Parts: sequence; C-alpha cells; structure tokens
Amino acid sequence: MAIHAEDKVILNIDDIPRRWYNIAADLPVPIPPPLNPQTMEPARPEELAAIFPKAAIAQEMSTERYIDIPEEVRDSYLMLGRPSPLQRARRLEAFLKTPAKIYFKREDLSPAGSHKPNSALPQAYYNMKEGVENLTTETGAGQWGSALALACAHFDMNCTVFMVRVSYDQKPFRRLIMETYGSKVHSSPSSETEYGRKVLKERPDHPGTLGIAISEAIELCIHQPNTKYSLGSVLNHVMLHQTVIGQEVMQQLELIDVVPDYMVGCVGGGSNFAGFSFPMIGKKIKGKIDTEFIAVEPTSVPSITKGENRYDFGDTAGMTPLLKMYTLGHDFVPSSIHAGGLRYHGMAPAVTAVVDQGFARAVSYEQLQTFEAAIIFARAEGIVPAPESSHAIKAAMDLALEAKRKNEEKTIVFNLSGHGLLDMGGYAKYLSGEMNNVR
Ligand SMILES: *Cc1c(COP(=O)(O)O)cnc(C)c1O
Repeated sequence: MAIHAEDKVILNIDDIPRRWYNIAADLPVPIPPPLNPQTMEPARPEELAAIFPKAAIAQEMSTERYIDIPEEVRDSYLMLGRPSPLQRARRLEAFLKTPAKIYFKREDLSPAGSHKPNSALPQAYYNMKEGVENLTTETGAGQWGSALALACAHFDMNCTVFMVRVSYDQKPFRRLIMETYGSKVHSSPSSETEYGRKVLKERPDHPGTLGIAISEAIELCIHQPNTKYSLGSVLNHVMLHQTVIGQEVMQQLELIDVVPDYMVGCVGGGSNFAGFSFPMIGKKIKGKIDTEFIAVEPTSVPSITKGENRYDFGDTAGMTPLLKMYTLGHDFVPSSIHAGGLRYHGMAPAVTAVVDQGFARAVSYEQLQTFEAAIIFARAEGIVPAPESSHAIKAAMDLALEAKRKNEEKTIVFNLSGHGLLDMGGYAKYLSGEMNNVR
C-alpha cells in the first residue's frame, strides 16, 4: 500500500490559527445567558469577576465572530504540538471492509494527553496578565487538572487542584503528573476548606464528587488573596479556545479537497466537540455545506439524548450561576464509568444551542461497546485511545458500517480527543473480561 499525501495532512507552524472562532456570531438564535439564581436576571460581569479574569468574562459574553489569540498563547500552542495532524485510518477502513473514508484529528499528541491544554493555556495567560498569581480548580479523572498544571508551569503561576478522592486513590500517575508540573493536589473532600471539612465530618470515607471538588475550589478561590478559579469545559470561553482544533481541520480538509459527510466527537461538558466542529458548523449555518455533526455520549450519562433543556446549576452544591443547557439535574450521580471526562450532568450552553437549533445531533453508546471499538482501533492504528474518545471511535465505526451496507463512499472525520495510556485500569478490566456493561 503506497503512502498517500492525504494519509497524514500536516500544516505548517504559520498555519496555527491567529484567532478563535465564536459561533455566537452566527447562530440564528442567541445562546441564552447565565442567570443569577437569586434574581433570575442575567448574571452581570461584576458577579463573575470574583472567580474569573476580566478577559474570560468578556469572551463569555462576546458576539464578535473572531477573537485574536494573544501572541504568547499562540507560541504556547507550539509546545502542545500544534498544528496537530489530520490522519486517515486506512487500516481501520480495511478491517471494517468499508468503502467509507475515515479521518481523525490528533488531539492525543499534546503533552497532557488531551485537547484540554488548548483552553488551560489561555486561561492561565489571562490571569497572569491581570496580576493573578494563584489558580484553583477541580479535576475528576485528572485530565483537566494536568492541563491546568501544565499551563501554570508555563506561565509561572501557582495551581491548586482538588481531585475527586476515588480518582486520587485510583489514578496516582495523573496526580504525580500534576505534582511534577509543580501543582498542589488535594484529595477532595479535603480538610483544606470549610465545605470539605463539613462533608468529611458527616462521612469521613466520602469518595468525593466533581460537585464537591468544584465547591472546594471556588471556596479557596474566594478566601485566598490574589486567586481565581478555572473551569475546563461547559462555558462559552472554553468552547471558543478549543476552536483552534476545528480551524486546523478546516484547513486540512481544504488541502485534500474533502467536504466530510459526518463529523463526530465525544461529549462530556462539550468542549472538544465544540472546538472540533464549530468552525465547520459556521459554514453549515450559512448553507455552504451539509455535513452532519454528531455528538456522542455514554448511555449512562445521556444529557442530550435523555436530558431536559432548561436552566440548571453547573455544580452539585448550587454555587454557580444557572446555565441553560441539556441537563440530567445537578444532583444526578453518574455511574462510575472509565470515561471519567464524560461524567458530567449537563452540556455546554453553546453545544445545547447548536443541537437545539438543528445543526447537530446526539447518539449514545454503552461502555462495553466503546471499549470493543477502542481495542479494534488500537490494533488497527496503533494508538491506545482515551475511553472518552472511544465513544467517537465507536460512532465513526458504525457510520462506516452503515456506508458499507448501503455501498456509499461516505467521508467520516472524528476527533481523537486524547490517548488512553493513563487509563490502563479500564483496559485491564475489559481485557480480563471483568467489565460489567454499565448502561
Ligand atoms: C475531558 C475530556 C473529554 C470530555 O470533555 P469535553 O469538554 O466534552 O471535551 C473528552 N475526551 C478527553 C480525552 C478528555 O480529557
């Protein structure tokens, strides 16, 4: 099999995007604003300023189509391996015996192992520029925590991460990566905060939840001088930062003269799907393409496929503004699937709006199916995918098999949001046949 130019589409350093794309400029119906839960009025910028830097708040509310990427942030994207390749999965196609062409975008190549540093770096940068010296955040499986730890090392800031206790105990390597980058990591619930102490008093062996960890991170942010809080998904400015992915994909598809039939991404809070798809969805809104956009979620956390589109809290304790989103309810407790990054009760308001207005749709898969797909992908393409990304792989494979049944030469592009080399616990369960099928 000869090597073809389109097997790996590589851009130049100059092609790293110079601006982020803001879908709010093009959506026919505006994204509903966050509300203050006391007044039920739109949250004012001053109310958010206690926890976020001014630049992020301005981006959160912006309807400008393009927002310039600061030069230092663009430089830092080089460290992430940007621009990342778009690769063709020829051996996967051959395995499936499909006439479909399958491409994937390689966000697994970043040093933190996922797309998340695309937003961690600008968030740390804006805080640093505004004189903030300390950031706090929460992390579940540890991917966002490692991304922010990397960004804080890069911009010389202090970072404190509250890591959900079960993950803290089960995934020591992710914690050690954060510590290697110089961050402080606490098992949450912790005795560092009033809220953590309260939870521990009621239940000393509490396993922790993302909601509790958020509450602890916000509490420390409010009480510690010169400190802000940072969120890894869900909010508009995070979706915005991630659009470097989709803008690169757009250039890469143009180079090989491809307009895909399908673009597929997994969704937790929605940021990798948004970043990957929004630039192309912008074209779809203008009627220039009719690509189908598909968001893939776990059947056990079905926020889009089974949730309601309404105002709800972003965290479990009810400390955040209300967000208009597909939600399973802020007290929803997801089952402990290995795709920890997809265990979130809601969906980004921007992704919610895109689905609601008919520009994307969602499907869901069970854990066992996604691991089956991950194993096939690993053996065909040599990359061990993150359990989150395996949801996108499974959906892409199903579309390729449908194309085979109909004998159609469809083109499918999916986002490989991360690698799974620190998720081998999940693979161990699958390979030993012990993985029970979490629905
Ligand atoms: C965090 C994470 C996700 C889910 O988060 P989104 O904000 O929906 O992108 C998906 N894949 C990987 C590898 C992650 O680390």
